[in-house]
Amino acid sequence: MLAKKIIIVGGGNAGLSVAAQLLRKNKSLQITIIEPSEKHYYQPAWTLVGAGVFDINKTVRSEKDYIPKGATWIKDAVETFLPAENKVITRQGNSYGYDALVVCPGIQLDWNKIKGLKETVGKNNVTSNYSFDIAPYTWELIRNFKGGTAVFTNPVGPVKCGGAPHKIMYLACDYWRKQGILDKCDVHILSGAASIFDVKEYAATLNNVIKDDNIKTHFGVNVTAVDAANKTIYYEEKNKDGITDRKEIKFDMSHIVPPQSAPDFIKNSPLSDPNNPYGFVEINKTTMQHSRFANVFALGDCINAPAKKTGAAIRRQAPVVVKNVLAFLANEKLRGEYTGYSACPIPTKYGRLMLAEFDYSNTPKMTFPFDQTKSRWSMWILKLKILPWLYWNKILKGTA
Ligand SMILES: Cc1cc2nc3c(=O)[nH]c(=O)nc-3n(C[C@H](O)[C@H](O)[C@H](O)COP(=O)(O)OP(=O)(O)OC[C@H]3O[C@@H](n4cnc5c(N)ncnc54)[C@H](O)[C@@H]3O)c2cc1C
Repeated sequence: MLAKKIIIVGGGNAGLSVAAQLLRKNKSLQITIIEPSEKHYYQPAWTLVGAGVFDINKTVRSEKDYIPKGATWIKDAVETFLPAENKVITRQGNSYGYDALVVCPGIQLDWNKIKGLKETVGKNNVTSNYSFDIAPYTWELIRNFKGGTAVFTNPVGPVKCGGAPHKIMYLACDYWRKQGILDKCDVHILSGAASIFDVKEYAATLNNVIKDDNIKTHFGVNVTAVDAANKTIYYEEKNKDGITDRKEIKFDMSHIVPPQSAPDFIKNSPLSDPNNPYGFVEINKTTMQHSRFANVFALGDCINAPAKKTGAAIRRQAPVVVKNVLAFLANEKLRGEYTGYSACPIPTKYGRLMLAEFDYSNTPKMTFPFDQTKSRWSMWILKLKILPWLYWNKILKGTA
């Protein structure tokens, strides 16, 4: 029998994990990773970079060093999918055929959806940990802040790491407390979400932090524009009669998270879920198989499943995809099942972190033998030291 051809679109956290795990199961598979970037980023550490406790240069490595032995890397970007013909077409105009396709090109940052953001982010006291180039500027702003209004934003709709828009706010407040200036800081969060965290057990802890830090919360709001010259953020908020009011807030520093959606080439493809407003890939949320194309699977930040978009979720999704791709190629029943598990490590202060773990039903799924709704030093060390090591040495190599 000829070796089966598997194409993986995207060599990020999900793509490399799946490639490495597949080859560990069966060395004879012909695995091709299509990935345009020569660099691979460990994005979860960007929050720590913004808080001044992690070196940005330690969050980037060469993609080539992580392509698993036995896989072929094509340095190109997929532009079009022809799933009825089992083909993908790349930007360079090449066509590649497959027996099974794994789709994982991540999520797109829509900086342009907030007017003025693209032009100003990274300068003028406007920062964002969602960019490798800009995360170090967050620390510059936090460190040099002498009091005034600090505004943190979280867009409407799904983002990668739902905790990242507010994690940096707790660390900033703790830093300002230690500098003795927190009482001179007027801290606001403008969030498109309905509450600080979807899982009520973890939200209770965060609401206490918000109270202690004297943070003013604005939920269900939509940030529409930032005017750097006038240091103003504009946003929409529904009033009690359901009418949208346009509001503004002046800031001295702000951390802005851009709206996010499926990469445009996914949105414009037959793989996209036509009913999903963000254009994510349409899959069965348990088997990770495409709902209409049986030899297509997807995982990571690009999927329409209602799981939180994190590397921690990918750690549980990857083995399910691997199991089900192999079963599909062997004409067997798909037995891998993903439960929606995700985790969000939320630092509440320097040296203290709450590891929130949960599933599709927003039920806590704690793996440690203690109450994980409490912030702990051990979980801070997990995030600062252990998880980065695990990522580069085990997760990307398919052994964790
Ligand atoms: C500030 C921040 C903090 C975070 N904190 C945490 C955390 O604490 N814990 C946690 O678990 N997660 C965290 N995350 C989320 C985590 O980084 C992502 O969920 C994870 O990287 C998603 O993996 P992925 O493979 O789906 O996408 P990515 O890792 O983003 O990789 C996608 C890859 O696809 C490639 N690609 C794009 N377009 C194409 C194309 N056309 N053709 C081929 N390839 C393409 C890209 O170049 C990229 O290499 C954080 C993210 C950010 C930004």
